[in-house]
Amino acid sequence: MKGNITFTIIKPGAVAHEHIGDILQKISDAGFWIAALKYIKLSHSQASYFYAIHKGKPFYDELVEFMTSGPIVIAILEKENAVEDYRKLIGNTDPAKANPGTIRKLFAESIQRNAVHGSDSDLNAKKEANFFFSKCDRFDRNGNFLEISD
Ligand code: ATP
Ligand code: MG
Repeated sequence: MKGNITFTIIKPGAVAHEHIGDILQKISDAGFWIAALKYIKLSHSQASYFYAIHKGKPFYDELVEFMTSGPIVIAILEKENAVEDYRKLIGNTDPAKANPGTIRKLFAESIQRNAVHGSDSDLNAKKEANFFFSKCDRFDRNGNFLEISD
């Protein structure tokens, strides 16, 4: 069964350019329920942990530096088939290759400063959501605490 949550970050570039409102609007318009939402600044250790899979790649150090450079918005989004549908909504990692109308085509500055993160699998969506939000900080469409199954 396809999972029903994904995890997103509105990255520092998009926050600095005041795109928070526009991006959240696109998320809601696409049928995602915002199950959890926070405005935070990542520490170096949080960003390193989050992007550990990319450690050793040429862009890793700069990526961690960028992700800690300013405030971000983090959110859990709920919808059937959330991971795949959200990756479609945000578009290709490289905005030059992203389809028209996607969040990255509209708001990304470059392949690194690409406006948003979206989980790449159901397992990572759960891990990322649980890393940043406890059960008492997340709600389903009925206003009940959101359970995230293993
Ligand atoms: P994200 O994980 O942020 O949703 P993604 O899954 O589309 O993005 P990944 O391959 O996981 O892409 O890369 C993670 C992030 O690392 C990208 O979103 C981007 O900010 C940065 N990145 C990826 N490739 C490059 C690159 N070639 N040059 C610079 N930065 C890059
Ligand atoms: Mg990724």
